[in-house]
Amino acid sequence: MTALLEVEDLRVAYGKIEAVKGISFSIEAGQVVTLIGTNGAGKTTTLRTISGLHPPLSGSITFEGRPLAHVPAHDIVALGIAHSPEGRHIFPRMTVEENLLLGAFLRKDRDGIQADIDRAYDLFPILGERRKQAAGLFSGGEQQMLAMGRALMSRPKLLMLDEPSMGLSPIMMQKIMATIVELQSQGTTILLVEQNAQAALSLADTGHVMEVGRIVLSGAGSDLLTDESVRKAYLGED
Ligand code: ATP
Repeated sequence: MTALLEVEDLRVAYGKIEAVKGISFSIEAGQVVTLIGTNGAGKTTTLRTISGLHPPLSGSITFEGRPLAHVPAHDIVALGIAHSPEGRHIFPRMTVEENLLLGAFLRKDRDGIQADIDRAYDLFPILGERRKQAAGLFSGGEQQMLAMGRALMSRPKLLMLDEPSMGLSPIMMQKIMATIVELQSQGTTILLVEQNAQAALSLADTGHVMEVGRIVLSGAGSDLLTDESVRKAYLGED
């Protein structure tokens, strides 16, 4: 079986600084895969490169068997990859509904778009209740929901989430993590970047630990959760 996404020996640099130094991993359809690791490990750079926002130095990224080299970012969205970025980047002066519509900018099927807006409101009822309000008034957790809802508006096969739990209360974080599980059960494949290794590994089928641009350890999420080196380095245990 071919993987949904295949990353092979990917290297990415900012000028002379090599942020990603030859990583390889694949994602099977239906899986939740997480990249964990400390600040600066290269996780965000990896997502941005898959999205076509940053060019690779070398290596390959293949989605459903198709190489993504030189494919522009909007075509990558059209192929079925959506990216909810670190820091959310919602549009604060626009309403919830307008922000969601931006996620559907490539689509013309009005009925389908409305159905997906309704689906976002089912997933996150608070967004429906506040659909006409400016998104800038929202709490961090609500903005995170909106960023996820917006990414889902392109009906992605692969949803990439960068640090969705950042700055959230434990209850809001649980809600976001539960939503990831729900989306997986509905058939969405997810690539999750997280600083909160405990939460990410608890729900991921597969995890990869990144350190300074390299994957240093990979395994089932549940195995990495109990791995002694992971526990010491990322789960705050002595
Ligand atoms: P974080 O959780 O802090 O986002 P990360 O694992 O996602 O960490 P990246 O953001 O991918 O890591 O950063 C990897 C390396 O690339 C770091 O050394 C960072 O300083 C560097 N870097 C990231 N963005 C840029 C940029 N726009 N210009 C120059 N260097 C950058």
